[in-house]
Amino acid sequence: MSKEQLYSLMKEREKDFEGMSDAVWGFAELCFNEYKSTALQREYMEREGFRITTPVARMDTAFIAEYGSGSPVLAILGENDALAGQSQAADVPEERPEAPGANGHACGHNLLGSGSIEAACGLKRYMEANGVKGTLRYYACPAEEGGGGKVYLAASGAFDDVDAAVCWHPAAENCVDNAGLACVTVRFPFEGRAAHAAAEPWNGRSALDAVELLCTGTQYLREHVLPSSRIHYAITDTGGGMGNVVPQHAEAQFIIRAATSEYMEELYARILKICEGAALMTETSFRGPNIISSYSDFVRNDAMDKLLLKNLKALMPMDYTPEELAYAEQFKPFGSMPGAAEAIDSSVDENTRREATGSTDVADVSHVTAISQVRVATTAIGTVAHGWANTAQGKSSIAHKGMHTAARVMAGALLELFTDEALLAKVREDFDAAHAGRKYHTLMPTDRQPSMPKL
Ligand SMILES: [Zn+2]
Repeated sequence: MSKEQLYSLMKEREKDFEGMSDAVWGFAELCFNEYKSTALQREYMEREGFRITTPVARMDTAFIAEYGSGSPVLAILGENDALAGQSQAADVPEERPEAPGANGHACGHNLLGSGSIEAACGLKRYMEANGVKGTLRYYACPAEEGGGGKVYLAASGAFDDVDAAVCWHPAAENCVDNAGLACVTVRFPFEGRAAHAAAEPWNGRSALDAVELLCTGTQYLREHVLPSSRIHYAITDTGGGMGNVVPQHAEAQFIIRAATSEYMEELYARILKICEGAALMTETSFRGPNIISSYSDFVRNDAMDKLLLKNLKALMPMDYTPEELAYAEQFKPFGSMPGAAEAIDSSVDENTRREATGSTDVADVSHVTAISQVRVATTAIGTVAHGWANTAQGKSSIAHKGMHTAARVMAGALLELFTDEALLAKVREDFDAAHAGRKYHTLMPTDRQPSMPKL
């Protein structure tokens, strides 16, 4: 095994993936609509000699690209979706949409998908040149931003024969990050009876009252839940803007999070009881629940985390030119660390057990195969995801550099797993130990046609 040979093969094709990522940045397609982005990538991988399967799990913008045969089966995951309203002119250090209200890549998924394909293509060339045995797969996963593409893929069994997988996310830091709370996003609609609120209120039954009682009941529940849980909500239908009409319909959107999927489902069942109680008290009908999405908790795999961290550290720090540092300096004031001494974070955070604060659909994959992911700096220090400054930096040489580094980390880690049986056995042992007594289950109705969620 020669990582140097792998990296030099990858270096030859760097420009291809910079072009691919920049093109995907320009397409800026939303969840489940990544048609142009995935067509470009599919065709590239087909030309590279991968076998393509598409659609997958009834998703047109999902595809699997496969090379080789037999055991082990190792995979790389990618995403391509943009965000609504996040359009921004490239490289401009002030908020200036290219087109007001248009979509933009404010989470760096243009780099994410293209970098993962860079890893897959580089590793394939190495495997061919050196006769490495096994099956290499790339999964194009749609709709990470709220659509839960990987949940549909996991539930369809698409990862069932995968021994281990890797993934990455563009960031303002360098670390292994496998934290994720279990989460369900759900709409709770109520139906009452409209009436004139002054002339005949006794004939009305207020759906808004039911929503208020649901929210109040939830406040009382908070005392009696594990502190790692999070319950937050928005009233998404107040029943109309007229105070003199008893609201006939009203709705709240709830997001319920917990450290494990099992406990999240328990909380969800308790809140459903509050919904029923609220309907009973107000003589309205509870017309839900309508689940938008549901993600599992992230199951960590220590052996995979160590492997990725080792590969990341070996490639750090990235060398930045004075021009790149000056470029990043312009964006620093708009991030979460405006006074930081450095313009770009070139350190590696070695903590592989960060506290989970958000949720991700990669976590569902962690329930069906061993997976770990890295975050690699592609922006100025402190640049937050889902903001204009993130979109602005998505085609920069810093972004490209981070993408190439992430691709090498993933390709290098998988090469070790392809060539070191004992290491892969350890990864599988960790997977089995972490899942003892657990069975993958999702609240998401994965038998429905995947589509853009109604928020
Ligand atoms: Zn993202």
